[in-house]
Amino acid sequence: MLLGGESEAFLNSFNQPPSVGLRVNTLKITPEAFLSVSPFPLKPVPWCPEGFVVTSNDHVRPSRHPYYAAGLYYLQDPSAMAAVVLLDPQPGEFVLDLCAAPGGKATHILTRMRNAGLLAANEAVRSRANVLLANMELFGAKPILVINETPKVLVDRWRGTFDRVLVDAPCSGESLFRKNPAACREWSPAVVEGCAARQGMLLAMAADLVREGGRLVYSTCTFAPEENEAVIARFLRTRRDYHLVEPPRLPGFSCGRLDWIAPELARGLPLERCVRLWPHLSIGEGHFVAVLEREGSATHSHFVTYAASLPSKVKRVVEMFWNEMLSTDVMPDSGWYMIDRTLHWTPVSPTVWAGLRVVRAGWQVGSLSGGQFVPAYALGMALCGSDVRSTFDLGNDMPATVSYLCGEPLQSIGPEGWVLITYEGYPLGWGKRVRGVIKNHYPRHRRWPRPLF
Ligand code: SAM
Repeated sequence: MLLGGESEAFLNSFNQPPSVGLRVNTLKITPEAFLSVSPFPLKPVPWCPEGFVVTSNDHVRPSRHPYYAAGLYYLQDPSAMAAVVLLDPQPGEFVLDLCAAPGGKATHILTRMRNAGLLAANEAVRSRANVLLANMELFGAKPILVINETPKVLVDRWRGTFDRVLVDAPCSGESLFRKNPAACREWSPAVVEGCAARQGMLLAMAADLVREGGRLVYSTCTFAPEENEAVIARFLRTRRDYHLVEPPRLPGFSCGRLDWIAPELARGLPLERCVRLWPHLSIGEGHFVAVLEREGSATHSHFVTYAASLPSKVKRVVEMFWNEMLSTDVMPDSGWYMIDRTLHWTPVSPTVWAGLRVVRAGWQVGSLSGGQFVPAYALGMALCGSDVRSTFDLGNDMPATVSYLCGEPLQSIGPEGWVLITYEGYPLGWGKRVRGVIKNHYPRHRRWPRPLF
């Protein structure tokens, strides 16, 4: 066993219950504010200020709390949070998450970018791209492209374009054994070998997508050196325009193991700069992260922005809704585009993604039905309750909230028309009040099953 004297502690860690990690959506709430309202006790993750471990979940399931439905947090293994901390995306940048579903790291990138710039989140498997989109909407994403393409197609379109690229590669998943015994049964040396070959290809293509002076982060949730240090070593031997960055040595970060791969492969390379997170040495299931930078000048990328405005008839309908309902943010004049009768706002020109299999481009704002504007779920989730004039706050009334999340109507006397339903002020979705009843417009695919408790 490669770990020598540490083997026993490592193997013992698999007998411990898996940790539940929770990452706060800082677009909606600060970590401090979340701590003051959290329904479950939390312990900080040392390398991620917005990350926590749920220390007890006997009474409340974090995935079945209205805060979860309001997109206040994502449940993610604490060690996986290290990848985006080290990617360090900034507001206004163009960032690509090449293997993005179900969206743990993509939602993290979005919050670090403060919803400004452009985040292209790609997923090769179509059904998983839908889950990715669902999580991006929950988080209140606006400047996004959710794409369902092969990396090769993206290289042909966007060579040398992105400020930062994340490759969270498909892997043999050794760190998942504790949580998911099926991952253990599927493991074999041949799987490790096959993964390593695919990871090498993915990393090579990702490298072509980074601009000069840009950053490339490679991560896996496996321990095998063949899929980690060896992939990085082979990459550095072929791509002389990249170097390994010395990461901050945050508590819980261990060094890469150059002694675990062939000496001729490791020779002369600073592979100790890779980061390993171990389940027996810190919190979480375990992860590997390598931070690479491309040589060259450090000027940011720019995509063509989009000046298109809405046809005047459509604009009047949208404007009427916008002015009546929203108290902040003047309706954007430009950046609008329509697919069939659905309206989106986009920070970049559709020429940027034309011809690609795009699942979502930009912020879906609403649609037109019989000459009326119907607000989209994504519109509501990117707003604060205080941005909207007509809201129905459920406070912390759990039975009424569960009723809404299960798709049931709400009794409420008030002005007729669209209402943003909120829980303690945080948007959950839309409803439409007609004669004292709010008809439920919470998306069907998100509805909670009954009974819950
Ligand atoms: N980054 C995700 C997150 O944090 O939620 C997890 C990504 S998971 C480790 C790897 C993803 O890569 C899977 O969703 C898988 O479908 C996708 N994938 C598989 N083969 C691929 C390929 N050849 N190119 C790109 N992505 C691939």
